[in-house]
Amino acid sequence: MEIDIKQKDETHLLFAIEGVDDAFINAIRRISTVEVPTMAIETVEILKNDAKIFDEALAHRLGLVPLKTDLESMVLASDCDCEDYCPTCSVTLLLKEKGPKTVYSGDLQSQDPDVVPVHDTIPLLKLKEGQEVELIAVAKLGIGLEHSKWQPTTTCAYKYYPKITIDSDKCESCGLCASECPRAVYEFDEKANTLEIVDIENCSMCKTCVRGCEAGAITVEGEKGKYLFTIETDGSLSPEKVLTTACEILSSKSDKIIEFIE
Ligand SMILES: [Zn+2]
Repeated sequence: MEIDIKQKDETHLLFAIEGVDDAFINAIRRISTVEVPTMAIETVEILKNDAKIFDEALAHRLGLVPLKTDLESMVLASDCDCEDYCPTCSVTLLLKEKGPKTVYSGDLQSQDPDVVPVHDTIPLLKLKEGQEVELIAVAKLGIGLEHSKWQPTTTCAYKYYPKITIDSDKCESCGLCASECPRAVYEFDEKANTLEIVDIENCSMCKTCVRGCEAGAITVEGEKGKYLFTIETDGSLSPEKVLTTACEILSSKSDKIIEFIE
């Protein structure tokens, strides 16, 4: 298996992977999306809410605030021995504000410095002069299979690595493929009369170039066993952490099958 990282920052990772098959890469994609746990607010006790927002709408909004997650120090709420919630599976966040002001995610006071909102600037509600809000929110570790608020990924997808073949015997150097391609994959130099593939990884395999080429000189297909994988997270976990955790989950699933057979 060969992996080549193409783009990388705090929340986004794009890489080419070779020497695997559809089933494997799709398993990693699915597990990354719905089985890698993150923290999200699960219960909210509203003590006071003078704002013009229903309690349930506010609770729903709080549930969608991405929280920084430390997978090593937390256990899944469903795996915890406690009855409702405890410090092993949950973190309490408090909110107490008085208007006039806009209350943001950054105003949530977490009882655990490692579990805080990823962004401080998500608007939660607006308070007018004298209006107050006071609530206790409990964030738990959960998985996307249960509710999408626990999905760590905002994008997690792969495509076949594009393979473009140009038959030089048939090519009439008309340059139509370059002008019709919506993703600037080709570059046609009119003076030198040369055609070059300049950005093959941007090809979405729409085959506009194939249809545009009257001489039928172009074929576009996916390379067997090679993929471009892109993963973007909401900031609760890094893309690397999501992928490594997904691999651990897949590995433990395989171990269980082996154990069962033996
Ligand atoms: Zn617990």
